[in-house]
Amino acid sequence: MSIPPADSLTVESDSENFESGQPEKTIVIVRYGELSLKSKGVRDRYEQILKNNIQQMLEYHNVSFSKIQRDFGRIFIHSSDPAAAKITALVFGVVSVSSAYLCSSDPAEITAFCANTGEKMIADGETFAVRARRAGNHSFTSNEIARQCGDAIWEKLAASGKTPAVDLTNPDKEIFVEVRQTNSYVYFETIKGPGGFPTGTQGKMVVLLSGGIDSPVGAWLMMKRGIEIIPVFFDNEQYAGSIVSEKAIENAKVLFSWTPGRRQKIYRIKNGEYMDKMMQTTGTKNICLMCKRFMFRVAGAVMDKEKASGIITGSSLGQVASQTAENMLSETYGLSLPLYHPLLAFDKQEIVDIAQRIGTFDISIRSDGGKECLAVPEKPEVKAILTAAVSEEEKFVFDIDEMVQKTVENAEIIEMKI
Ligand code: ATP
Ligand code: MG
Repeated sequence: MSIPPADSLTVESDSENFESGQPEKTIVIVRYGELSLKSKGVRDRYEQILKNNIQQMLEYHNVSFSKIQRDFGRIFIHSSDPAAAKITALVFGVVSVSSAYLCSSDPAEITAFCANTGEKMIADGETFAVRARRAGNHSFTSNEIARQCGDAIWEKLAASGKTPAVDLTNPDKEIFVEVRQTNSYVYFETIKGPGGFPTGTQGKMVVLLSGGIDSPVGAWLMMKRGIEIIPVFFDNEQYAGSIVSEKAIENAKVLFSWTPGRRQKIYRIKNGEYMDKMMQTTGTKNICLMCKRFMFRVAGAVMDKEKASGIITGSSLGQVASQTAENMLSETYGLSLPLYHPLLAFDKQEIVDIAQRIGTFDISIRSDGGKECLAVPEKPEVKAILTAAVSEEEKFVFDIDEMVQKTVENAEIIEMKI
């Protein structure tokens, strides 16, 4: 099981051209955003969870490290594994990471280090800038240390026959110096993480996960906000295309690989009996409406059973017949369920872009040439009247609540550890 490299998440990247013999990058600096807005107690708890999640991600990808430390608004990973930064940048809650060289906080040492490395990485004619920041008590300001390092690099470049040029606005190369109380960190690149909140800080939600492009993306966006997911997949049995189940399960596994180290479960719901019975009385054009409404009811029952706090879908307004505002209203009319549609306002291309980045796109577009659902009528309703779904349910010759209960009891629960 592989997840995509974080390359696509990279915002700034410098090519490294250090000669051998340079010190190794031994520290990964991890930055996180919204967490820092929380009260101290909450922040402490979230930081601890984030730290554990980083550890799980590194272990899942076999990245070696010796220590992960929390220190005033940052997490530091002690690792000289070249993959450490990119893998850490996959963890929800992480805003950005940098792979850094470790120095003392002695200004002479920082300056000498910057001069040596700067001279190696700045080519003749390239402009540069030193950016410094400081936390702790020191005898110098951020500006002073930045200026000292800049001067030292300048001299070193000039001595080696290059023409130094500083450009603070739009430099070709940037050297970042972060000085803490006893250590300093020097780095040249920042990799963007997904942001959001650490997994496990916002509870669990059920996700209506199909084999399609949209629902895995909706699930991922909620996972990014700290949610743990319980995928619920409807296998329409005699009405289902042959590869739909396998795509849904594979998508679930890719999603799980974003939050590794946990026990996970997928509900595979057998929906054939309901479909047969519903189609005996439901007007043809309302079949999709009634299928969706049943999915919501069953998802609600799974949510209760799992003590989850919501239901996520991949619905995007107007994208297909089933997702007009009128249909969405009729589908849920009279149902009291916490349904979340994170993609409601997203365009298809925006959804596709995320699907590609998170590794579900290639699974979702797989096709055996057949239809995904054989029950879909040629002309489904696109402008359902408000109470259409309720009127259709009144015609049922079976008890809907019993059917929901039986369907959940008969669900196949696929458990795994990823
Ligand atoms: P997707 O790309 O996620 O399949 P879609 O564009 O095909 O969505 P619909 O088929 O109307 O649109 O589905 C809307 C939402 O309903 C899906 O995003 C998903 O959350 C849920 N859904 C649809 N089919 C299934 C299924 N077989 N199992 C579980 N959920 C489903
Ligand atoms: Mg679909």
